[in-house]
Amino acid sequence: MKVVTWNINGIRTFKCGIKKTFDALDADIICVQETKVTRDLLDERTAIVDGYNSYFSFSRGRSGYSGVATYCKDSATPFAAEEGLSGLLTNYAGALGCYGHHSEFTDEELQLLDNEGRAVITQHRVQCSDKIRSVTVINVYCPRADPEKPERKQFKLQFYKLLQARAEAMLKNGSSVIVLGDVNTSHRPIDHCDPNEIDDFEDNPGRKWLNGFLRDDDNNMPASADFSHGGKFVDTFRSFHPTRTGAFTCWSTLTGARRTNYGTRIDYIFADNQLAKEQFVAADIMPEVEGSDHCPVWGALRCSLLPNSKPPPLATCYLPEFAGKQQKLSRFLVKVDQKACRSESKEALPGSQEEAEMRENINVTGTKRIMRTESVSQMSKKSKTAKTSSKPQGSLLAFFKPKNEKALGSSQNSLKSFPIHDERALDVSSELHSATQGKTTQGEHLSAQTCNARGDKGACFGFWKSVLHGPPPPPTCKVHGEPCVLRTVKKDGPNVGRQFFVCARPQGHAANPEARCNFFAWVDRGK
Ligand code: ZN
Repeated sequence: MKVVTWNINGIRTFKCGIKKTFDALDADIICVQETKVTRDLLDERTAIVDGYNSYFSFSRGRSGYSGVATYCKDSATPFAAEEGLSGLLTNYAGALGCYGHHSEFTDEELQLLDNEGRAVITQHRVQCSDKIRSVTVINVYCPRADPEKPERKQFKLQFYKLLQARAEAMLKNGSSVIVLGDVNTSHRPIDHCDPNEIDDFEDNPGRKWLNGFLRDDDNNMPASADFSHGGKFVDTFRSFHPTRTGAFTCWSTLTGARRTNYGTRIDYIFADNQLAKEQFVAADIMPEVEGSDHCPVWGALRCSLLPNSKPPPLATCYLPEFAGKQQKLSRFLVKVDQKACRSESKEALPGSQEEAEMRENINVTGTKRIMRTESVSQMSKKSKTAKTSSKPQGSLLAFFKPKNEKALGSSQNSLKSFPIHDERALDVSSELHSATQGKTTQGEHLSAQTCNARGDKGACFGFWKSVLHGPPPPPTCKVHGEPCVLRTVKKDGPNVGRQFFVCARPQGHAANPEARCNFFAWVDRGK
């Protein structure tokens, strides 16, 4: 039995084929987070995947926000499935029960905690040597704690407590339990690229919660020890790789940090102590798989799954809009033009909230998301083609386009030709956004005719002003002697809106000479 968890940062990561991607992951149960699929956006191609049955939790609030889904191979069809952790969303048959103690939550709090589509639970039967066991798989996308929204810190901790109550209640009732997903907290210093940069690393309430939830391996308890003094769950990756450093699952796309592996490990497969000890045979991360700002994580168990004869009522195949359509699957197996798929830009997706999470996690100062120029996107198309042709057919990697920031360099390891993003020029072009059918185009490429057609004199003036005066020449950073990038202060405060120059290289550890140096210069206000 193999399980995979992956924060996919939008279901469109699978644009070139969910089934192909899943088959390549080769897992019985695939749990994805941050689908950005709400009920209004769920389409058949996503809901009904040949050979799998799927279970979704949708955000009840914002459209296209959050969301988790569990896909099970037909040979791993669960016996029960449920949306949410609290039981309040459970108005259908096939729910699991065992909700634990909710005395510290009000009904309203429970409702809010389950309102954002952050948990799906499936319950399976497995054959372990001579006996049949129940395994409950809790797929979660734990909330982030936006440092600028203190109420979300509380929300995140409440979610952790509710998760723990449910997981431990299922365990107490006799089922084995796997909790997996994007937990949004790096546990130990080894799970963080730069723990010394974090104030009071160990005092973070999320880390404290993990300390209590997980068994403390540092005590080197003998195998026969009673674990009741430690937590009830094991971080399976860390138990197989106790000292592996640089094992990260999430990198900021904002700073291009995947190239320097300046990341955090916040995606986990936790298993109850007994299941971890008796059934897990391997667990690892898959940093080579791109397509999202997170990578997949897998775990393999000795036991084998026993499928239910039909999916439980929560399965998407029973949703009225898809009911009865499984028979017409051939319609969805039309060969997709891979080339067309790859050239499609992912920038059209709504911004990933992971970037804010990474800011929280790795202390990046609030900077504006880098917009990309047309010349850059053409460069990345070129390098995509090059990469595609150099990869063997059928490799999992071939399903994903390279990260844009990786594509910016002329080759994977060369950082020398990192281009300049000038946001002042781009700000002008964004004014003319609608005139160019949504294409982000650098000001210089726009004709006066386009400008007049829009009939916006203000935008026209800004456009010509930028062409005539040109952007301010960027200074060069002191360490690399390379042109800097212009950024704008986004964070509220006395400097909001002010522009500054920083080294153009991707963020990385201070000791990495290839990574961003500490060059910083304000743009003079007068200009
Ligand atoms: Zn530099």
